[in-house]
Amino acid sequence: MAKTVSPGVLALRKVVDDVHADARQAHKEGKLVGWSSSKFPCELAAAFDLNVMYPENQAAGIAANRDGEIMCQAAEDLGFDNDICGYARISLAYAAGKRASRKLDMTTGEYVINPASGKPLKDENGKVVIDEATGKPKKDPKTMQPFTVLDDIYEIEALPEGREKELRKAAIKPYRQMQIPQPDFVLCCNNICNCMTKWYENIARMRNIPLIMIDVPYNNTVEVDDSYVAYIRGQFDNAIHELEKLTGKKFDEKKFEHACANANRTAKAWLKVCDYLQHKPAPYSGFDLFNHMADVVTARGTTAAAEAFELLSSDLEETIKAGGTTTPFPEQYRVMFEGIPCWPKLPALFKPLKEHGVNVTAVVYAPAFGFVYNNMDEMVRAYCKAPNSVCIEQGVEWREGICRDNKVDGVLVHYNRSCKPWSGYMAEMQRRFTKDLGVPCAGFDGDQADPRNFNEAQYETRVQGLVEAMEETKKLKEAQA
Ligand code: SF4
Repeated sequence: MAKTVSPGVLALRKVVDDVHADARQAHKEGKLVGWSSSKFPCELAAAFDLNVMYPENQAAGIAANRDGEIMCQAAEDLGFDNDICGYARISLAYAAGKRASRKLDMTTGEYVINPASGKPLKDENGKVVIDEATGKPKKDPKTMQPFTVLDDIYEIEALPEGREKELRKAAIKPYRQMQIPQPDFVLCCNNICNCMTKWYENIARMRNIPLIMIDVPYNNTVEVDDSYVAYIRGQFDNAIHELEKLTGKKFDEKKFEHACANANRTAKAWLKVCDYLQHKPAPYSGFDLFNHMADVVTARGTTAAAEAFELLSSDLEETIKAGGTTTPFPEQYRVMFEGIPCWPKLPALFKPLKEHGVNVTAVVYAPAFGFVYNNMDEMVRAYCKAPNSVCIEQGVEWREGICRDNKVDGVLVHYNRSCKPWSGYMAEMQRRFTKDLGVPCAGFDGDQADPRNFNEAQYETRVQGLVEAMEETKKLKEAQA
């Protein structure tokens, strides 16, 4: 039976589709399209009606579509080190014109199908059909996919008009993240991490386009110092000035205020959605939250996103009243998932959790994008608070709060090879919050975008170990009660 999708989820899917479609259309019409880091103040670009795409979000989508490896390898072949964040490698390869394409047979013009793809064919009784010749399950031809190969849009553009050019253009994978327009300018804010700075500088240099940069210093203290606010406000003014030069338009204060109001509405609704995970059993899981990251990142300053998140929030209120959940198994344990998921390996991440009844009821990554502010100084302060730009005390406080509120029994930490600033201080962070909370914790090695850095067997063993430790803690608590 097809999974029912709530009106809020449907509305959110449309929001992201529309953002992408608008950018593609703008590019076709010769209008400017920019690329922006995920926590650059989108309100500034909105004041100029600019179409903006988000490479981190795009890279996550490419990785989830299983093209992370070919794009990471393409970046490495261009000379970028394989130690650089996978999102950056995917984005740099894309900016250089590299695309994941379907393999073509130029003689027939047909795609060459990969025999390892596709789902097992089932008969009318739902039984897997066995191929008599091989003794192995037959593949459903409708679900089989062509081989993936790397192509280059600049090579394609240089071809003379004709059949080969048309076929190769059409062979580029059709999903939206592989179809975003090349950038006319880049907006970068290094509150996310410092890798951003070099990543965006490289894109700007590669494409010979303007880079508008907002530098947010690392916060060594929990409170954001006034001198930081003054420094960053000065850069907001400079960014506005640069955007005026780029667009030939004046900064529109009304549009800016409208975007701020929408961003606040979105943030409030998003935080409400995140907080519903506190319910026992949780009406949905942290994986559902991850699925909505694209909306928060790409569209938080739009009315459509604010309305869609409010709709999602009321859907979830109803789900709680009805005692429902999207989690397809009874919740035996509740854990916090620390870090960004391994997008190419979502089914492998989910499988052992499902087997052991472990629901992810807390995540740090998602609420980090819900920030509310009432004036310009508060806005600046809000943009200073991202997971990798705050001190360890703030990081521990966030995690302890969320673990307590969301009533977790354990913590699963993703030591993400791509995200070194996050994983680097994780060992100490983990030591502090697990000691304070008395909950067991297990870590596994992985990568958000490059599947070569994830080992399914190691992950399964770690989940199993965590479950055993949570079971022991539970017994101990029951004995003490
Ligand atoms: S924060 Fe981590 S995952 Fe995001 S761009 Fe920086 S290094 Fe990559």
